[in-house]
Amino acid sequence: MDTEDVRLQIYRSFVDTGRPPTLVELTAQIGLDDVRRALQQLAGARHIVLGADGEVVMAHPFSAVPLGFSAMGRRTLWWGGCAWDSFALPHLLPDEPSVLVATQCPGCARALAWDVTTMAPPAGPEVAHFLTPVSAMWDDVVTTCANQRLYCSEDCVDRWLRERSVPRGYVMDLATLWRLASGWYDGRLTHGYQRRDPADAATYLRSVGLEGPFWGL
Ligand SMILES: [Zn+2]
Ligand SMILES: [Zn+2]
Repeated sequence: MDTEDVRLQIYRSFVDTGRPPTLVELTAQIGLDDVRRALQQLAGARHIVLGADGEVVMAHPFSAVPLGFSAMGRRTLWWGGCAWDSFALPHLLPDEPSVLVATQCPGCARALAWDVTTMAPPAGPEVAHFLTPVSAMWDDVVTTCANQRLYCSEDCVDRWLRERSVPRGYVMDLATLWRLASGWYDGRLTHGYQRRDPADAATYLRSVGLEGPFWGL
């Protein structure tokens, strides 16, 4: 069992149960020192995010902690990660072609929900706001994801920004968010997955209509 097997075990656990494996579960086949080494390698390569006690907190698009979203499939309930991650789930999970994504507008606290499918973007006037530019997304990726939210409208985004005196990040409609999420995580459930290099990432972002300094393009 190598590092890639550990990565896949983490993803399989998230897919099947909605949560990451515990350290005890990961040590079923290899020793604790090897598990810890594999987790450190995976975190260093940005495949996963570890918490203070070395536990798995995120394996994008999955999250072990609440970040403002829930995502309900036919048999499984996930913390949805951020807006991008929540909208990605039906695309990544062949057995879950429709996922009910729910959240609360950070601007006005209204409850919001969409049936997100692989067929077409959900209809609606809501917008996504991403606060942290791509160049800084991994400085603190949990905080980055926690600030990639869905709002009723641009007015609610502006209210949220005004109350915190923080500069606007990037606002996109539901269709753009859905396109961004649709193929971004392709391959993560497959053995031998390679993360996109910057050139491939740029090509993907442009293909879904995202450009400009926020995206590093
Ligand atoms: Zn609102
Ligand atoms: Zn995220």
